[in-house]
Amino acid sequence: MSESESTKPSKINPRFRYEVAKMPGGEKLLQCFQCGTCTSDCPIARFNEKYRPRNIIHMAQIGLKNKILDSEFLWLCASCFTCTDRCPQGVEVASVIRILKNMAAEEGHIPKLFRELLSNLLKTGYVYEVPESRIRRRESLGLPPLPKGDSESILKTIQELKIARILNSE
Ligand code: SF4
Ligand code: SF4
Repeated sequence: MSESESTKPSKINPRFRYEVAKMPGGEKLLQCFQCGTCTSDCPIARFNEKYRPRNIIHMAQIGLKNKILDSEFLWLCASCFTCTDRCPQGVEVASVIRILKNMAAEEGHIPKLFRELLSNLLKTGYVYEVPESRIRRRESLGLPPLPKGDSESILKTIQELKIARILNSE
């Protein structure tokens, strides 16, 4: 979608900024004055020219809800909180991005990779499935076996979350 197309009035949800601002961590969204400090200090923006936290905040402010929630770039955030520490306006940028990810997940927009990680976690208690070769290598080095992942208690913890229902329905 081109920039001009995505900013057509019909694509804008004027209430979106208030939806984000009422969530814990989103309160200062409207105080962003677009200085760009968050982008200039973001380690992901350094390596990916499409990832710009300043733009994400701007899109949230002007109400480009669908464009943000459908995006893949949202999920590039590493949640390092550098942006939050550096913002001169006290905008909790990392928290705003977490809110946006949660909203995207609630609408079922979860990139394949993250679905796989969650599904591994629920199956094995580990985010990454540990390959047999790695287990044998540990044994050959005389290392103790890895602790068994507690997938049952993880499942119990998240079963009331919408994400669990989304994954179960697939
Ligand atoms: S650092 Fe803060 S004020 Fe500056 S662009 Fe980022 S969110 Fe906005
Ligand atoms: S929390 Fe996300 S947006 Fe903020 S600096 Fe870290 S990677 Fe960049």
